[in-house]
Amino acid sequence: MIPYATAAEAEAALGRAMTWAEAAWFRYSATMPDYCLYYHTALILLVSYTLAPLPLALLELRATQTSPPAYKLQPGVRRTVADFLRCYRDAVSVLVLTVGGLQLVSFRIIKKVGIRAGLPLPSVGETVAQLVVYFLVEDYLTYWFHRLLHTPWGYEKIHRVHHEHAAPMGFAAAYAHWVELIILAFPAFAGPAIVPCHMTTFWIWFILGAIEAVDTHSGFIFPFNPAKFIPFYGGAEYHDYHHYVGRQSQSNFGLVFTFCDFIYGTDKGYRYHKASLTKVIFF
Ligand SMILES: [Zn+2]
Ligand SMILES: [Zn+2]
Repeated sequence: MIPYATAAEAEAALGRAMTWAEAAWFRYSATMPDYCLYYHTALILLVSYTLAPLPLALLELRATQTSPPAYKLQPGVRRTVADFLRCYRDAVSVLVLTVGGLQLVSFRIIKKVGIRAGLPLPSVGETVAQLVVYFLVEDYLTYWFHRLLHTPWGYEKIHRVHHEHAAPMGFAAAYAHWVELIILAFPAFAGPAIVPCHMTTFWIWFILGAIEAVDTHSGFIFPFNPAKFIPFYGGAEYHDYHHYVGRQSQSNFGLVFTFCDFIYGTDKGYRYHKASLTKVIFF
């Protein structure tokens, strides 16, 4: 909620004219309580995890039995419409219940750490800098949580659900035990808690996080994927190997970047696998 009754009042308080983005934000949020704006996050996640994997599923379904889709990492794995729908239904039902529950109990925390919804809106530079911090913080913490989930107890009781898909697909990005979703919410919230942002940045953060998770679980390695220009970005091939190895996997715990696995030596299996493939290709 913005504490100004009119746009003129808001501009007087800002000491300048509003940008078009600020004017749009004022029109949308001026009379809306902050908790309503915060609860948009669950809807944003639902839409992101619905729309982002959709083109990948259509691409896979368009391919025929004799001609697998181009750029697919495990071309021998074929899925039906029912497979995609089952995965989507199971993933989204757990996601909505878990995120919805978390949203109800975390609004006060969000207010306490300083997530703001007023004016002015952050600059592009501020937004980008905060998002970079959030990705780095999330990746580091997720690496360690993911390693813990690969201990015998963590895997058997919790993480096994996410690994049901040895060949990942976009819809499987959020397919996990509800406890795992709660555990992974901590790294996602840690960045905004350390470096508080505007609500719009908070939404962009969760949209980008969902797109990254879907890309990582896509099962496709597109040569034109712009993410491959991001330094140390793991991507689909990197995480596909982790799923392919499954329960025994002690490699590729990083979910966004590769540097934690490099620093802590947990990319050895993957590097050996890549080196073996290179040998097969050249000899
Ligand atoms: Zn895992
Ligand atoms: Zn995964």
